[in-house]
Amino acid sequence: MPDQLGVGVVGMGFMGRLISRSMLTVPVVFGQDTLSPRLIICADAFDSRLSDVKTTFGFGETTNSWRDVVDHPEVGAVVITTPNNLHVEIARAAAEAGKHVYCEKPVGRYPSETADVFDCVRRAGVISMVGYNYRWIPVVRHAAKLIKDGRIGEITHLRGRFFQGYGGDPAAMLTWRFREESSGLGTLADMMSHVIELTLMLGGPISDVAGNRKTFITERPLEIPGEGTHVSVRTEGPRGSVENEDYVGALVRFAGGAQGTLEACRVIKGPAAELILEVNGTEGAIRWNRERMHELEVYTEDRSDLTGYTQVFSSPEMPFHSYFHPLRGDGPGLKDLKVIEAYQFLKYVETNEQGESGVADALEVAEVQAAIMRSWESSRWEDVRPLI
Ligand code: NAD
Repeated sequence: MPDQLGVGVVGMGFMGRLISRSMLTVPVVFGQDTLSPRLIICADAFDSRLSDVKTTFGFGETTNSWRDVVDHPEVGAVVITTPNNLHVEIARAAAEAGKHVYCEKPVGRYPSETADVFDCVRRAGVISMVGYNYRWIPVVRHAAKLIKDGRIGEITHLRGRFFQGYGGDPAAMLTWRFREESSGLGTLADMMSHVIELTLMLGGPISDVAGNRKTFITERPLEIPGEGTHVSVRTEGPRGSVENEDYVGALVRFAGGAQGTLEACRVIKGPAAELILEVNGTEGAIRWNRERMHELEVYTEDRSDLTGYTQVFSSPEMPFHSYFHPLRGDGPGLKDLKVIEAYQFLKYVETNEQGESGVADALEVAEVQAAIMRSWESSRWEDVRPLI
């Protein structure tokens, strides 16, 4: 097994840049513990997104064609950070060429496309990683361990929500996220995929759902090509229709008997980055809010001396914490989560052992999304069913 992995990146926007930086940071944070990533080539549709990448990240080559990345003989893994409409095509080509696939969530535009990617990756036998970055947070992993160890008893309730109003300004441009052709689903694919994957991680399989959706801002200014980010605004010029949902909500029932609610909204006012998980069990409870990322609130009935929730800080005893800070309190930040994710991916490739957060996890998320979509149409509870 060579000690290096050639990496190609397709889509040098927000996530492409972040994952490129993370690849460079893995050896700095984790030492020589795994394969050393080499940034070989990256692609973007716009030259403006490529002008600095050789000097900033050390890529050897740039291109406007994603096929050059997949076909490059030195590339062993392809990072897919394009809008969702390109995920399937690139992942399929990469997997069929025997290259490992690191794809951003939601993995395609619709649940059926996630299933296609799962199928290609499984057939090819390559390693995969999906950008479910929040699952690497030390206190979130600690929460999962407390639940697994039975510290809060049987789960009875689970509520998850992600409120981040990046599209709350009606002058925010009609970027790819708001269009069906490029994004497919809206918030159900985008923010809700994080809520669902964390919910499944903590609460286990969901058996059935009753979902709803709403588009609050139905028209936006057209994007200036190559200039649109999450928050770019344009106050003048032509406008176009928003083609997918701003808000999604669902009542959920878990296979283990717990009852819950899931919500996400991209236009809500107030919260900055309110990704919240609240789990109640027969013997205790846990809650966490990404806005206070390194604090977990824990209540257990066996602590009769303490009547309410206790604040538990991220600490070196928790997974990954000590790579970023030797003391209690300050855990890894959002960008560090991508370093952990890249490290895990390299480790899976090095050992040829697929771990969590691969396309199999994306398929489970997609099965819940598919049930929510069916519920939008039927206005009834819908079972979560296998997609493959
Ligand atoms: P972005 O718009 O910032 O970047 C996308 C890039 O892809 C742009 O630079 C665009 O020019 C490029 N592109 C478009 N068509 C292309 C083509 N044919 N060939 C090559 N490049 C092309 O978007 P983003 O925020 O980086 O999102 C990208 C992906 O990452 C999405 O799937 C999104 O859901 C996901 N994402 C994940 C997280 C997370 O927390 N895990 C956060 C944000 C975005």
